[in-house]
Amino acid sequence: MAKSNLVIFDFDGTLYPFRPYDSEQTLVLSHAKTKGPLFRLRARLFVRADRRGAFNNPQFYKRYEKIIRDVDPELVEKTARDLAGLLSEEDRAAIRTLTEVADLAILSLGTENLAEFFLEELGLREEFFLIKAKRIRWKKGKAYLKVNIGEAEGKRTNLEALRKTYKKIVAIGDGPTDIPMLEAADLGLLLIWGAESSPHPFELHSSLPSACNRAKEFLTS
Ligand SMILES: [Mg+2]
Repeated sequence: MAKSNLVIFDFDGTLYPFRPYDSEQTLVLSHAKTKGPLFRLRARLFVRADRRGAFNNPQFYKRYEKIIRDVDPELVEKTARDLAGLLSEEDRAAIRTLTEVADLAILSLGTENLAEFFLEELGLREEFFLIKAKRIRWKKGKAYLKVNIGEAEGKRTNLEALRKTYKKIVAIGDGPTDIPMLEAADLGLLLIWGAESSPHPFELHSSLPSACNRAKEFLTS
């Protein structure tokens, strides 16, 4: 932490596009491929229900934790590194250029481990001083979750806790769970990859370079 400005990103759907699954759904489905038919069926049903919005956050965490109980740490890493392939050189450069004017952070309801390996694959891990979401830890070969941000309002309180350190804060997110954080920022940007119209009352950007350029312009004006 050295700059006077901060840019906070959401992770899933913001730093990469859904194709069509998010990083956690992708991990669950990849993990299921290593298991028997019944497990694979359960995993597919879980992901389908999640995509329908069937779970609130605690319900999701409980099921997600159970389904990845014996996930291989290497699969977590591989899943995240593969996702990084969705970004172009231009996307990566857009994030990097922000570091000239701001510190970078991620506040997410996703998985910290996935965000970290994703950034590492892009050569951007060191550019983010804070990544807060939920963490997969392993104890005696079993995975369990440590939830560091459990609800959308947690993004707001975490942003507000950084207020005293930073002069200006820009927040960039893609979905309803980002609204509290976008409201709390000096500038809240919606980044929905490829979108033409905005479902929420925030300035809409349809690409990472567009959102990053706008953030940079705001912080330097
Ligand atoms: Mg998102």
